[in-house]
Amino acid sequence: MFAGLLVLAGTLAMGTHLAVNQAEQRLDRLGVEGQSAAWRQTLANEWQRMRAEATAVTRNEALIGAMRADAGISTYADPLYNRLRAGGIADRIVVLDAQGTVRYDSDGTRGERVPLADAALADGRFHEGLHHVPGERIYAGLAIPVYRGGNPIGSVVQLRDLSTSALESMAEAIGGRAALLDSRGPLALTAPFSMSLSLSGRLQEQAAAGRVELDGRHSQVVYLPLTPYAAERPTANVVLSRDLTESVATQNLINALTYAAAFLVLVLIAGGLYLWLGRTLRPMQQAMKTLDRIGHGEFHTDLRVDSRVTEIARLQQVTQTMAQRLGRILEVEEENARLAFRDALTDLPNRRLLLEHLEHAIHTVNRTRRHAALLLIDLDNFKTLNDTCGHSAGDRLLQALAQRFTARLRDQDIVARLGGDEFVALLEELSPDRSQAGVDAQRIAGELLKAMREPVRIDDIEHVMSGSIGITLFPRGYDTPEELLKQADFAMYQAKHQGRNAVRFYDPAMQRTLLREAELERNLRQALGREELVIHLQPQVDPEGRILGAEALMRWPQLDGTWISPGEFIPVAEHTGQILEIGRLALLQACQTLRAWQGRPGLEDLPISVNLSPHHLRQARLMDEVTGILEETGAAAQRLHIEVTESVMADASPQLIANLEALRARGVALALDDFGTGYSSLGYLKRLPLDVLKIDRSFVQDIEHDADDANIVATIAAIAHNMGLSLIAEGVENEAQRDFLVRHGCQRFQGYLYHHAMPVADFEALVADGPGRANQADCEPRGPTE
Ligand code: C2E
Ligand code: CA
Ligand code: CA
Repeated sequence: MFAGLLVLAGTLAMGTHLAVNQAEQRLDRLGVEGQSAAWRQTLANEWQRMRAEATAVTRNEALIGAMRADAGISTYADPLYNRLRAGGIADRIVVLDAQGTVRYDSDGTRGERVPLADAALADGRFHEGLHHVPGERIYAGLAIPVYRGGNPIGSVVQLRDLSTSALESMAEAIGGRAALLDSRGPLALTAPFSMSLSLSGRLQEQAAAGRVELDGRHSQVVYLPLTPYAAERPTANVVLSRDLTESVATQNLINALTYAAAFLVLVLIAGGLYLWLGRTLRPMQQAMKTLDRIGHGEFHTDLRVDSRVTEIARLQQVTQTMAQRLGRILEVEEENARLAFRDALTDLPNRRLLLEHLEHAIHTVNRTRRHAALLLIDLDNFKTLNDTCGHSAGDRLLQALAQRFTARLRDQDIVARLGGDEFVALLEELSPDRSQAGVDAQRIAGELLKAMREPVRIDDIEHVMSGSIGITLFPRGYDTPEELLKQADFAMYQAKHQGRNAVRFYDPAMQRTLLREAELERNLRQALGREELVIHLQPQVDPEGRILGAEALMRWPQLDGTWISPGEFIPVAEHTGQILEIGRLALLQACQTLRAWQGRPGLEDLPISVNLSPHHLRQARLMDEVTGILEETGAAAQRLHIEVTESVMADASPQLIANLEALRARGVALALDDFGTGYSSLGYLKRLPLDVLKIDRSFVQDIEHDADDANIVATIAAIAHNMGLSLIAEGVENEAQRDFLVRHGCQRFQGYLYHHAMPVADFEALVADGPGRANQADCEPRGPTE
C-alpha cells in the first residue's frame, strides 16, 4: 500500500513537473517563432524599400554609360549612393562589372566577393539576401543587374546595414534589446546588452531560445541564425532579448499553484486511502483485541459482526462464537467449582471451604492475638421431624435455619453446613482478652439458639426446634482445623448430655469461669436492683495522718456478713455493661454523702473521689448524668473528684476528651489512677485535663527494695511537680515507704499504714475523733468465696 502511494506521488510530481516544464518550453518556442517572424518582416521591409528604389539604378543612364566605359565611375556612383543613403534605403552600394570585379564601393575599395552580385550577373535578375563582412557588418542586400543592349554589363548592389534601423526597429517591436553577432563577437547592440551576450556568446546555427537571470531580472534570449546569400550555413546571429521578469513571476506563481494543487490532490488521495483502509482494518483490530482478551481468560465481548469485507466479517463471526462458547464453558466450570465448596441445599460453605477458612483464621489469631471461636451447632430433634414430615420438609427447615444463622451473624463471621443437621459458625476478631472473648462467643451462641427456637412454618405446620452448641476458643497452642472441630464436637456432646438447648465450652476452666460469671452477673443484677452495693471510704491523709479526703470504693455485702471484692465483680460488670450502673450508684452515694457533710465541721471541706470506668467516661450522656446527680443531691461539684485509669488512653475518643473537659469545667477535679502501669506517655498527660496523679500501689510496694521502682516514683513526683499536678501515693503500708515518698515531695497518702476503706458512718466518726490510726473499724473485703 505504502509503495503504491509512493508511486502515485512520484507520478503526480513528475507529471506536474513536466507540465510546468512544457509550459516554459512552449513560451520559448513561441518566443522563437514570434521573433523569427518579426525579423523576417523587418528584413522584408528593408528589401521592399530597396526594390522601390531599384529604378534609381536601372534608369541611371549616366552611371550605366560610365560603367560601359573603362573610366572611373565614382562621379556617377557617388550621387546615387548619397541619394540612397539620404533616403534611408542603403548604407553602402557596390558596383561590379560583368566579371564581378568591384568598380565602386561606397565604403572604399575592399576587393571582397559579393555573391549577390554574382547571382544577378549569372541570371540577369534581381537577387536579395544577406551579405556578411565577418567581424564588421551584416547587410541586407539587393543585387540589381545592369543591361545595355541586352547584354549584362555589371551589377549594382544596395546594402543596408542591419545594425542601424533594422536592429532598432526589431528591439522596439519586441520591447527589448537586440544585437548582431558573428563568430568573432558582437557586431552591434542596442542599448546595454553586453551581459546577455557574454553569457551565451556562441554562434547558434539554429533558432534557439534560452533564459538568462541577472540581478533578479529574467530575460528570454532568442538567437536567430543569419545565413549570407549563397552560403551553406549561418555565419551570424541576430540576438533578441526580452524582459520576462513579470511573466516569469506570473509563471512561477502558476507553477507554485500547480505544485500546490498537485500536493493537495496527493494529500486528499492519501487521506481517503487511509480512511478507507482504517474502516477495513478497524474490525480486524477489534477482533484481534478480543482474541487477546480471550487469551487472558476474559470472555465477555461486545464485538459486532459489521465488516463489509467478507473475510473480516467471517473473522469477527468466528471470534464472537469462540468467546461465547469459551464463556459458557467457564461458567460451567465456575459453577462446578462453587459446588465443590458449597452445600447444595443451603448454599452455605461446605466442610471443605470451612476447613480453608479455619486454616486462615488460625494464622490470623496467631498474628493479631485476638481470639476466635468455633461453634458447632446440632439440632436436637431434627431426626424426628425428618421421619414424620418427610425429607422435603426437613430440607426446607434446614434452609430456613441457614438463612436465620446468616442473618444473626456479623459479616466477617462464617456459617457452614457440615451435612445432616450440623452447622458450624466461625467467629473471628473477638476480644484479645480470653474471658471477654468467651463471654462474647457465649452471647452469640445464645442468639443462635434463640433463632433456632423461633417457630418455622412448613406446609402450614409450625415446628419449634432446639439445639445444642459446643464452643472452642482459639488460639490455644498448636491448633489445627481438624483438632478444633473435634473440640467443638466434644463440647457439643457435653451440651447435649446436659439437657437440650444448651451451650458448652470445650475448655473446662473457661466453662467454670463463664458459669461463675453468669451466676455473678445474675446476682449482681439483683443486688443492683435492690441497691445493695454501698460505697466505703478510704481516707487520704497528709504525712501527719490528718485526713484530707477519701476515695469511694464499692462494697457488695453478702447475707452471711462477708463482702465480695470489687476486684471480682468489677471485671464481670465491665463485660456485661453493669459497670455503668455501678458507677452511677457510686456517684450518687458519694454525692449524697457530700451533701450530708455540708455544714458539718471537719467534714464539709473533704472531697470524695469516685472511680469511673473508661467505658462509662465515654458515654455521651455522662455529663447529663453527673449534672443530674449533683442537682438532685445538692452536692458541691468542687468536692467531687473523679478517678480515671490510664487505660482510657487506649481509646481517647473526642467524646471522652470532651467529657473530661466538661467535668473539669463543671468544677469536678480529675485524678489519674494507677499512674505508671499502662500507657505511660507524657504526651497524653498534656492532652488530658488533670488535677491529680495517683502513684500506683505496685510501685509503692517495692520502693525500699527495688531501685527501679524508687526511680519511677521519684520521676513521677518530678513530673507531677513540673506539670503543676498534686500527687497521691496509693497502697502506703509502712513508714519506710511513707518517708521515701515524703523525701520525694509527696504529701498525700492512702494506704493501710493509715486506714483501710470503711463504711461512711465509721469515716465520719473517725473524723470527729480527730487524727489517729484507728484501724479497728476498717473493713476490707474478703477474697473470692470458695
Ligand atoms: P483502686 O481504684 O486502685 O483502689 C484502690 C484499691 O487498693 C482498693 O481495693 C483499696 O482497698 C486497696 N488498698 C488501699 N490501700 C491499700 C494498701 O495499703 N495495700 C493494699 N494492698 N491495698 C490497698 P478495692 O477496694 O478492692 O478496689 C479494687 C479496685 O476496684 C479499685 O482499685 C478500683 O479500680 C475498682 N473499684 C472499686 N470501687 C469501684 C467503683 O465504685 N467503681 C469502679 N469503676 N471501680 C471501682
Ligand atoms: Ca481508684
Ligand atoms: Ca489505684
